[in-house]
Order: sequence, then C-alpha cells, then structure tokens
Amino acid sequence: MVETAIFGMGDQSHPETARWTCPHGRHVGQGCVPCYRAATAPDPALPLWAAVVWFTSPRPIPIKVLHDVHRHGRHFALDQPSTPLVFLLTGQARAAEGVEAVAGLVGFLLQSRGAVDDFTVTEVRATRY
Ligand SMILES: [Zn+2]
Repeated sequence: MVETAIFGMGDQSHPETARWTCPHGRHVGQGCVPCYRAATAPDPALPLWAAVVWFTSPRPIPIKVLHDVHRHGRHFALDQPSTPLVFLLTGQARAAEGVEAVAGLVGFLLQSRGAVDDFTVTEVRATRY
C-alpha cells in the first residue's frame, strides 16, 4: 500500500490537507514532534512504514549534516538529488497510519533546527511494508 501526496507551495486549501493531518492536528508538511517521539519507542504491533519526504531548503545543508542523519538509526537518510536545494529525507517508522510516519519524519527536521534551519515540504510518500 502506497500513499503519496504532492503539495502546492503553501496551498493549505488543497483537498489532500485534511487527509494528511496527523492525530495531533499537524499537517505533515509542518511536521509533528509528538509523532516523531512516538516513533522512537513504538508499539511493535504497529505496521512498519517507509516514509519519504521531499523538501526544499533556502540554503545548502552541510555535507556533515547529511551524513550525521544516518547515525540516528531507524534507516534515516538525508540525500541531495541532482537539483540544488532540493533534499530527500527517508526513514522507517512504526505507526498506525502513514500520515503519522511522515509527520514524525518531518518532525525529525524540526528537531534538527540549527542544522536544517528552514524547509518547505513539497511531496511525501508513505509505503506500508
Ligand atoms: Zn502528530
């Protein structure tokens, strides 16, 4: 099962908005720290998701930061595809719904303020294993 969404820049009236809002009322594009924390000690009975987030950053992200993401475990990876200032964050998470897995992954970016100062989520995908 794959859930995917592409977000218009800042368009919160998109019909997908409600579907991509986590139980804490946070849109996945904003990220959710409670979802991120919940995924650090998940119920092993919950389904496992592969979450993918494409985002843009107004500034380059240092190579060291890109590499440090791997140390967080949970198969987190932050890559820079060929387009400048476009980044791809991937990670695994156990969550009841795909939206929570993605909101938690973006929540990781919120937790990484200082390394990733600002970002705009443009596309997300959650694939249930
Ligand atoms: Zn949440």
